[in-house]
Amino acid sequence: MDDQEKSGAAPLEPMPEDWTRALAVVAHPDDLEYGCAAAVAGWTDGGREVTYVLATRGEAGIDGLGPDECGPLREREQRAGAAAVGVSTVDFLDHRDGVIEYGIGLRRDIAAAIRRHRPELVVTLNHRDTWGGTVWNTPDHVAVGRATLDAAGDAGNRWIFTELAAQGLEPWDGVRWVAVAGSDRPTHAVDAGPGLDRAVASLLAHRAYIEGLTDQDPEEYARSFLTSAAQALAPRFGGRPAVAFELFPR
Ligand SMILES: [Zn+2]
Repeated sequence: MDDQEKSGAAPLEPMPEDWTRALAVVAHPDDLEYGCAAAVAGWTDGGREVTYVLATRGEAGIDGLGPDECGPLREREQRAGAAAVGVSTVDFLDHRDGVIEYGIGLRRDIAAAIRRHRPELVVTLNHRDTWGGTVWNTPDHVAVGRATLDAAGDAGNRWIFTELAAQGLEPWDGVRWVAVAGSDRPTHAVDAGPGLDRAVASLLAHRAYIEGLTDQDPEEYARSFLTSAAQALAPRFGGRPAVAFELFPR
């Protein structure tokens, strides 16, 4: 048995709870709704502040709809999805959907968001090449996940991106963890039960996207996707349905 198989069977630790602000940074509208909305619902219930930052407006996400119409539609769906789990601030970085480039520009934009919102916890989506095995990830997720892990450090260094301080964004070295949702090697988890209904509502807010994806009834689709993902982790989290994260402490 190799290391990855061992970690695949190991119990998941509870996520840290001694924080007040989280910033979730992902590539597309719906990434957080597929990835960890039930955890976000639980956090905002507990009085914590969670802010969303999206690198794109998801304008390349629906085959039957051109980018000019699709971008604004998906932005509206994303704001509704965020509101369903208690998130009222959603920022867009306006990188181009499908062709996000990992690099200094992306790191700078994310570091600026971290300095602006000053989170202790940063959340992102799977930065690895695959979702596990041979299920290939998308280049946008890899770029944004990696840049977010990097930007947690960039945000705290006065001498990286000096132009940000000139814009009034002082260094923030207070990020204590970056939690990666959708990783094939999770280490920590949140009980998905209390937030699951709102997570379904949150994913269902992406109705136009889901209707473009499947002929299944959207509510059935959203509920069965999120329930089975959460149940699959239950054996590793004391029998409770879970949202899992790979946690990178800083
Ligand atoms: Zn995505």
